[in-house]
Amino acid sequence: ARVDNPYEGAQVYVNPDWSAKAAAEPGGDAIADEPTGVWMDRTAAIEGTGDARGLRAHLDTALEQANGQNIVFQVVIYNLPGRDCAALASNGELGPDQIDEYKSDYIDPIKGILDDYSSHENLRVVTTIEIDSLPNLITNVSPRETATEKCDEMKANGNYVEGVGYALAQLGAVPNVYNYVDAGHHGWIGWEDNFAPSAELMAQAANAGGSTVDNVHGFIANTANYSALKEENFAVDDVVAGQPVRETSSWIDWNNYADELSFAQAFREQAVQAGFNQDIGMLIDTSRNGWGGAERPSGPGPETDGDAYVEGGRYDRRIHVGNWCNQAGAGLGERPQTSPESGIDAYVWMKPPGESDGSSEEIPNDEGKGFDRMCDPTYEGNPRNNHNMSGALPDAPISGHWFSGQFQELLSNAHPPL
Ligand code: BGC
Repeated sequence: ARVDNPYEGAQVYVNPDWSAKAAAEPGGDAIADEPTGVWMDRTAAIEGTGDARGLRAHLDTALEQANGQNIVFQVVIYNLPGRDCAALASNGELGPDQIDEYKSDYIDPIKGILDDYSSHENLRVVTTIEIDSLPNLITNVSPRETATEKCDEMKANGNYVEGVGYALAQLGAVPNVYNYVDAGHHGWIGWEDNFAPSAELMAQAANAGGSTVDNVHGFIANTANYSALKEENFAVDDVVAGQPVRETSSWIDWNNYADELSFAQAFREQAVQAGFNQDIGMLIDTSRNGWGGAERPSGPGPETDGDAYVEGGRYDRRIHVGNWCNQAGAGLGERPQTSPESGIDAYVWMKPPGESDGSSEEIPNDEGKGFDRMCDPTYEGNPRNNHNMSGALPDAPISGHWFSGQFQELLSNAHPPL
């Protein structure tokens, strides 16, 4: 039988392939023994690629690390047809219509392997299901100004919904698997017009492809993103110079949440309202949302007006909350930990620190990765970041590849400090 929170009373798998890269960096020893997510980011990843072992080898290594005690193995399911429809950097190998290949060549083999390990009672497999998929069908579709052709296509053909449902049904049939669905982050679906609709779409997906909501153990927020965990120098309902900052601060811009903790807790409740089980739990990816270092504000901004107040106090130092690629100034966030707050099963490092979000210029590759100008530091933006500079670091390799320059910044700007 599944436990309520798989992280309770269990250690979490340390991926030796990531760990070796972290340890090879100056200062990297400080975090090389932290658990990070294992990304099945293409069919070939199941058997293993150049510098990364395959799924069976990871599971065998996890059982060795467990040494008979309970262990959580964190795996990211990330290969939908038409993947990442609003960005090019993490486009995948499957075209928009290749739902049959997704099922038979990707999900079925993963399920087959997990079945072989399902009798290990000390092994708890946490899956995070399809990062950057469903929220795109709410926010980046016509008639919104932020629409992309490919997101319109993925909404119309139904393959995100069908694929997520199928993944949930198949993996959820394995008794020691705990499925967590991706719930974006507060700077994506924290607004009145997209928060509840996102939860409802997730309920629709959880009932598609042969699944029911019982296959969903919870949700994960902020995966591979940079939104701060707690903004302590202001709150969305503060009033400054007689006006609510929610309306006057261009950073908040009418969002109902200012940080990931408040967002994740509220999303949990919204998901229950949308039909998910009462006892679902949340994960928050805190790998890169620390925003520490010398630039971290030590108190609120001046109360002259809402903008000055929030600008002076916010930890998240992105140019715009819609920026997502290799953000300059970011640091490691909270170290992975269990049951840190009410409703939160764990803080996790699902995105392995040091792995790029996308290349800062075009680099040919055989992984299906495109070049997204949101990763180019000279780019002046698009409707999805309200035409701001990208805030990306220069000299980045393609997504998933090791980016030493970013790793070093994450160490220097860690918060809590290392
Ligand atoms: C990339 C994947 C990679 C993952 C973790 C994603 O942005 O597309 O290839 O495995 O990040 O670094």
